[in-house]
Amino acid sequence: MQFLRYINAFKRLETPFYFYDLDILDQTLRLYTKFLRKYGFKAHYAMKANANPRILEMIHRSGLGADCVSGNEVQLALDMGFDPDTIVYAGVGKSDREIRTALQGDIFCFNCESVPEIRVINDLASQMGKTARISLRLNPNIDAQTNKHITTGRSKDKFGISQWMLSEVLEVIAACGNIKLIGLHFHIGSQITDMKVFEKLCDKVNGFQRWFGQRDICLEHINLGGGIAVDYQDPLGNPFSPFETYFQTIDDKLEIRKGQKVHFEPGRALVAQCGFLISRVLYIKAGKGKQFAILDAGMNDMIRPALYGASHAICNITSVSEKQEVYDVVGPVCESADRFGVAVTMPETDRGDLVAICSAGAYGQVMSMRYNQRDLAQAYYSPDL
Ligand SMILES: *Cc1c(COP(=O)(O)O)cnc(C)c1O
Repeated sequence: MQFLRYINAFKRLETPFYFYDLDILDQTLRLYTKFLRKYGFKAHYAMKANANPRILEMIHRSGLGADCVSGNEVQLALDMGFDPDTIVYAGVGKSDREIRTALQGDIFCFNCESVPEIRVINDLASQMGKTARISLRLNPNIDAQTNKHITTGRSKDKFGISQWMLSEVLEVIAACGNIKLIGLHFHIGSQITDMKVFEKLCDKVNGFQRWFGQRDICLEHINLGGGIAVDYQDPLGNPFSPFETYFQTIDDKLEIRKGQKVHFEPGRALVAQCGFLISRVLYIKAGKGKQFAILDAGMNDMIRPALYGASHAICNITSVSEKQEVYDVVGPVCESADRFGVAVTMPETDRGDLVAICSAGAYGQVMSMRYNQRDLAQAYYSPDL
């Protein structure tokens, strides 16, 4: 296992901590950008997945733009040196201050999610003497067949503009002197494992394109968002998402018009598998018909299992026992939801063993918090260690 060469370094560090294998990130980015180039697609990294500066810097160097969901993310992208022309900004609740930040930064595009938002962007742009480029984030009413908490493209979800609102939206835009409509945007959810969902998305996008085409509206920019899944069951055996199949599917199904560029917003699929949360076992505690492995990492360090019921591979990386045992792996925080895994099979585990929670690079460190006044976990990187 790839951890073996780091074990001695790990043993000296205070736990819990995040460990980022930058070689994995580098290989992921090479693979992803290879297919982008093959098809002539563009991508904006969804910063909310992981805004660690070392990671952002590598992603920036690989040539991707930034996909932001807050004014502070826009500002961070600008500060990190992302070209404003590669920054997009989505979100159902953009505040006036956040909109001004993005206008001031002359970002490439606002992904707009409602009529009142378009009006406010127009007013603020007018006050600042700017023209805002916008795409419409459309809600295609597709069930992404993923975890209900990370599904965003059904008509009952809060995201995007529905088909029936489009005529009004066009009237509003026509009356807005400081808005330029440049494209359509979609993001239907995260951790989407079934390629048929992306085929369905392409069908819907083709339908929307016909609707706009009938009205002689030419859009140069079609953005299909993020959502590619990673393998949480076997992250070490299968560290890369099926980028080739994904882009092939899009290229086959999407009817791209002349002069149009297709954009993407990958988050999870770029950064999940390079990150590990490394923790020490504090206690093995007997329970009724089970035993608990109590870690020094908690839900405040990584909230995905508690928040979404997410399941991550958990490995004891120091035990040399041949005997396999079953544990509920839990944290120290005073919440029953503070649980990383139920009935996890690991080699016989003792106090002091190191445990790796895998696929922790996306929506891990960036969601950490100080609940229970706990310290924030530090981050370490290979090849530095
Ligand atoms: C979260 C998000 C993404 C990234 O989603 P992943 O599933 O991590 O690829 C892309 N676009 C928008 C608008 C998002 O909110």
